[in-house]
Amino acid sequence: METYDVVIIGGAVMGSSIAYFLSNNPDFDGKILVVEKDPTYAQSSTSLSAGGIRQQFSNTENIQISQFGASFLKNIDSYLQFDDDPISIDFTEKGYLFLATKKGIPVLQKNHETQRAVGASVQILNQSQLKEKFDWLNVDDLEAGSYGYEDAGWFDPHCLTMAFKNKAKTLGVEYLKEEVVEIQRTGQQIIGIKLSSGEKINAGIVINASGTKASNIAKMAGIQDLPVHSRKRFIFLFKCLTQLPDCPLVVDPSGAYFRPEGQNYICGISPSEENDPDCDDFYMDYSVFEEQLWPILAQRVPAFDAIKRISSWAGHYAYNVKDQNAILGIHPEVNNFILANGFSGHGLQQAPGVGRAVSELVTYGQYRTLDLSCFAFERFADNNLYQELNVV
Ligand SMILES: Cc1cc2nc3c(=O)[nH]c(=O)nc-3n(C[C@H](O)[C@H](O)[C@H](O)COP(=O)(O)OP(=O)(O)OC[C@H]3O[C@@H](n4cnc5c(N)ncnc54)[C@H](O)[C@@H]3O)c2cc1C
Repeated sequence: METYDVVIIGGAVMGSSIAYFLSNNPDFDGKILVVEKDPTYAQSSTSLSAGGIRQQFSNTENIQISQFGASFLKNIDSYLQFDDDPISIDFTEKGYLFLATKKGIPVLQKNHETQRAVGASVQILNQSQLKEKFDWLNVDDLEAGSYGYEDAGWFDPHCLTMAFKNKAKTLGVEYLKEEVVEIQRTGQQIIGIKLSSGEKINAGIVINASGTKASNIAKMAGIQDLPVHSRKRFIFLFKCLTQLPDCPLVVDPSGAYFRPEGQNYICGISPSEENDPDCDDFYMDYSVFEEQLWPILAQRVPAFDAIKRISSWAGHYAYNVKDQNAILGIHPEVNNFILANGFSGHGLQQAPGVGRAVSELVTYGQYRTLDLSCFAFERFADNNLYQELNVV
């Protein structure tokens, strides 16, 4: 039977980032296996995401994770290049703009103070400043906006995943196309995993990076209460003949968002809590675009009155139903089971920061660069939730 020091379940952006940071750490010299059931990543959150990165979070640690994320993306060659070809992830640093009516100002202002306190590149624009900077925007009902003018924008999620994976492989990480179907545990210790082929593998440490399947994997390890649910989100690609100069990713007070995608635009909106069931299918509901999004978009940007939907897709958030934040670290009941789960719509940008943090936890038994212990599983038992307010 094969033995690995670390087995990572799930090899999309999070699993591959962890694999890279761990294998690149000179203080770690163990054997790493990544088990990924679908190396095309066709249904992973990673491949189906909107690709955004921003500094506008309400929790300090989420801002710091994204600050490192932006710096990592800007210097990606120095981390992940391994031959003559520079890494291309198409990072478009066009900013993020959260809009607020009068009602939203206290939260916007409070978040802004938290963000400035850790040095995020954000500024508040009042109504007339918004109009001056983005003359295509209808600001009639707006009081202000939080503009992330640096270290914010969007990039190609699949390219980032492949860059992590390719580099990790050059550093000795092994990838196996297989499905984990069982986890073997004695007492407080995992001893190994079983694959759908029937093969068993011994594991020193097991890391759960399985996205929307995180609760299933946790159950295999005997943990029944990981609060990660699969929740469907749609993205619509549309065409507008009018170009919007300097258009950032815009988040409307309604929660709807849009951003440029090449010559076109993408948009989406999260459903209300009552209309957000657990969901595994990929069926499209086009009425979300026709009946909800389009009226909001046309009201916010008059040029969006004349748009044409070109295509669309559905993906799933690995949604932490308790406080919409990551669940990170060693599980209190299983000494060698590490969680990297529940990213709730902001995990892509967190991959570099979380990958680095988990690699530290494995190597040194503690976080070194960024203390992410606020995301520990223990917070649920203590009912000490850590709510992120800016979930798009
Ligand atoms: C529509 C949408 C928009 C988004 N927009 C953004 C955004 O703008 N910015 C942002 O930061 N984040 C965004 N996200 C969230 C982000 O995509 C995710 O948080 C992130 O990609 C999670 O990565 P992951 O590797 O943890 O999970 P995933 O990408 O889901 O990968 C999990 C992997 O585990 C594998 N796996 C599962 N079970 C098993 C098993 N038993 N055996 C082997 N392999 C297994 C799966 O095949 C999969 O490849 C968005 C998500 C969606 C759906």
